[in-house]
Amino acid sequence: MGLKIYLDGDLVDKDAAKISVFDHGLLYGDGVFEGIRSYNNVVFKLNEHISRLYESAHTIMLKIPLSKTQMSEAVIKTLQENGLKDAYIRLIVTRGVGDLGLDPRKCRKPSVIIIADKIVLYPEKFYEQGLKIITVPTTRNLAEALNPRIKSLNYLNNVLAKIEAVNAGYEEAIMLNSLGFVAECTGDNLFIIKKGTVYTPPQSMGILLGITRDVVIDLARKLHISVKEQILTRYELFNADEAFLTGTAAEIIPVVCIDGRQIGSGSPGQISLKLLQAFKKATENDGTKYNF
Ligand code: PMP
Repeated sequence: MGLKIYLDGDLVDKDAAKISVFDHGLLYGDGVFEGIRSYNNVVFKLNEHISRLYESAHTIMLKIPLSKTQMSEAVIKTLQENGLKDAYIRLIVTRGVGDLGLDPRKCRKPSVIIIADKIVLYPEKFYEQGLKIITVPTTRNLAEALNPRIKSLNYLNNVLAKIEAVNAGYEEAIMLNSLGFVAECTGDNLFIIKKGTVYTPPQSMGILLGITRDVVIDLARKLHISVKEQILTRYELFNADEAFLTGTAAEIIPVVCIDGRQIGSGSPGQISLKLLQAFKKATENDGTKYNF
């Protein structure tokens, strides 16, 4: 049996899951999305992802045609229909079909798409050896122009930074903000550790407020590790004892080299590994359960 995709209330075959070329999600990147994971029949932090989706939508004045409860139910139904215990879920709401002008008032009905598929994990060697990453010339969008808190379909800012990293032979890029302070990576938040304290850039640096970021901050505090949201420059990154990235797909990935500078011992650090362990445990029960 092939994959079934949720499309505006129906579960349709993957090959039949199509949207119009006049959808403003395609024409203008006008829409919002979430990336969510389920672990062993539990959707991790589903309520948090749904809340963020609705806040993103509210900000761009996109009225989602489902209540939050209905949306959560639709996610669960899609997982059940596909018999997926462990999955990556892509939830997308587009502005819908309009004309070739960008006026969203022409788009009468937003489209809701839920894709649930097997999770494709990053290569194990990233976790064992740690990532080497670089800062890139493309800065993170100015919050005054397009607030990175909006998880919109307009990811070209991040795509450009990713291209710069890939061109230089790296997997991931650190994006600074327009003032030169550290913001985040193209699809992950960034943390460093110095003398036992965990640091991560605050919201005001212009970042997506990652759900994994929040989980890691909570877990660190529960483990009595001090956490500070603090403005960081490349200098602090270069001189950190440890560094790691957080995101729904990546979970926690250690970083061992930034712009050619070795971080700490050059291997994943002890506190990073401790947090990774605590994170794995949290994913076992911190979410919305479903059955088949
Ligand atoms: N920053 C950006 C730009 C992202 O796209 C993501 C992934 N959605 C993250 C951070 C991590 O967020 P989360 O932990 O909610 O997946």
